[in-house]
Amino acid sequence: MKPNETLLNTLPNQNTVYELLIDNMGDNHVATSYDTPLREDAFELDDALKIEMIEKHFKSIMEILGLDLTDDSLRGTPKRVAKMYVKEIFSGLNPANKPEAKLFDNKYQYNQMLVEKNITLYSNCEHHFVPIIGKAHIAYISNGKVIGLSKLNRIVQYYAKRPQVQERLTMQIANELKSILQTEDVAVVIDATHLCVSSRGIKDIQSSTITAEYGGKFLDDQTRNEFLKFIS
Ligand SMILES: [Zn+2]
Repeated sequence: MKPNETLLNTLPNQNTVYELLIDNMGDNHVATSYDTPLREDAFELDDALKIEMIEKHFKSIMEILGLDLTDDSLRGTPKRVAKMYVKEIFSGLNPANKPEAKLFDNKYQYNQMLVEKNITLYSNCEHHFVPIIGKAHIAYISNGKVIGLSKLNRIVQYYAKRPQVQERLTMQIANELKSILQTEDVAVVIDATHLCVSSRGIKDIQSSTITAEYGGKFLDDQTRNEFLKFIS
């Protein structure tokens, strides 16, 4: 491949101090804010245009890596990756994709905690763009309204489909549940493996990361322990 503008614009950064800093920030998994950092113009481009642009840029990345995109196996990869980013694994960035939460009256007057455990969780680390794979466990105590069980899965999936940090993901799910169910009595625990820890960097395939967010009655030892017993 002959050098082109893209190649020249992406010559190695000579600032090694800065590079060390960004390596450290990634490996320490430090998040800067509760909200996913988004640009003001995040949704000015529509999905079709985003896919087209990402396809071009991803093609450049592959070419810079030295891959021959005339090969039949690689030819379609930039398009596949672009579609996967916009329509699947990062579709939760767009509020238009947020699941609509329909509430029902708690007709049974069931006023104990409801736990949904082992919700499959696939996300991606915002520092390395590689998968986070795990389980989410959710509990709430009804404040007169209940939510369809599959909606709990959908809320987890929506926030997981963003470049994420596990702590932020946990809080975003908990806050969404509090706001929908109009109660503070919500608990979220996430137990996940980060591929940026297991497949690169420190290469630890045994460890998993647990994060938890408790509100309202779940701040009481007894309620929290009951929940933790259910999910153990
Ligand atoms: Zn990472």
